[in-house]
Amino acid sequence: MNVIVCVKQIPDPALPGELDADNTLKRDGKLILDESDSYGVEMALQLVTAAGGGEVSLVSMAPNEEVSGLRTALAMGAAKAVLVSDPALAGADALTTAKVLAGAVGKAGDFDLIIAGTESSDGYTGTVPEQMAEVLGLPSVTFAKTVAVTDGTLNVNRQTEAGYDEVTCSLPAVVSVTAGVVEPRYPSFKGIMAAKSKPVENVTAADLGVESVSWAQAITSVEDAPVREAGEIIEDDGETFNKIVEFLDNLKVI
Ligand SMILES: Cc1cc2nc3c(=O)[nH]c(=O)nc-3n(C[C@H](O)[C@H](O)[C@H](O)COP(=O)(O)OP(=O)(O)OC[C@H]3O[C@@H](n4cnc5c(N)ncnc54)[C@H](O)[C@@H]3O)c2cc1C
Repeated sequence: MNVIVCVKQIPDPALPGELDADNTLKRDGKLILDESDSYGVEMALQLVTAAGGGEVSLVSMAPNEEVSGLRTALAMGAAKAVLVSDPALAGADALTTAKVLAGAVGKAGDFDLIIAGTESSDGYTGTVPEQMAEVLGLPSVTFAKTVAVTDGTLNVNRQTEAGYDEVTCSLPAVVSVTAGVVEPRYPSFKGIMAAKSKPVENVTAADLGVESVSWAQAITSVEDAPVREAGEIIEDDGETFNKIVEFLDNLKVI
């Protein structure tokens, strides 16, 4: 069984973010594997192991031919990657991103399943996997909290507000997985060393025949969030609950 995982590489959220002149997030430094996609990589590795053969391939769109996040996913056990890196794609909107990833899938070889995160940690439109499925003409299953493949059929427990739906679907398909679907493994030292020589194919938008469509909106200014004001301390005099009820009533939460 061959699985392709969409892997977004993002600026490390643990570091203070910096903005470019157009007020968008600076992405020209080291980029890491989005934690949202580490679940997809782990799920893909487990599905391939359960199937008894096949491989996991990665597709990513990122600036400056950045591969740090891809190398982490390769160190976890993925076999190879296709990276789309092209200045023409700066400011690509969600549909362009989906078209680019769909094109990259075409370069990654035969596949049974495409896995993506439900939403990325930095852009979080939560729309790319579904648009990609539409571009590829494949069924799309979203919010998967468990994923299994039995006799060539995809079986997904799809998270809902009330519980979950049991969804079955023919393959190939695109499935977006929720955080926590599986526990991502830590890359071993051997995996890290092996990842250095795993193939990463670099392609441009032109190689895929995709034209970039940039965001319809621009960010005109950015301000610091207001400093949080100190809260009111209420000493308990036996009647304090009245003040708390009044406070909550004013907020219209009761
Ligand atoms: C300030 C700002 C303004 C924007 N304006 C617009 C606008 O006007 N119109 C518009 O359409 N979009 C706009 N966007 C959205 C932007 O284009 C998206 O962030 C981008 O296209 C990727 O979508 P996402 O990260 O929201 O993906 P999501 O749909 O949240 O990601 C879901 C999953 O898709 C996969 N994925 C997403 N991106 C990649 C990638 N690059 N490589 C590999 N896998 C990936 C990953 O598996 C990810 O977990 C704007 C974003 C920002 C920050």
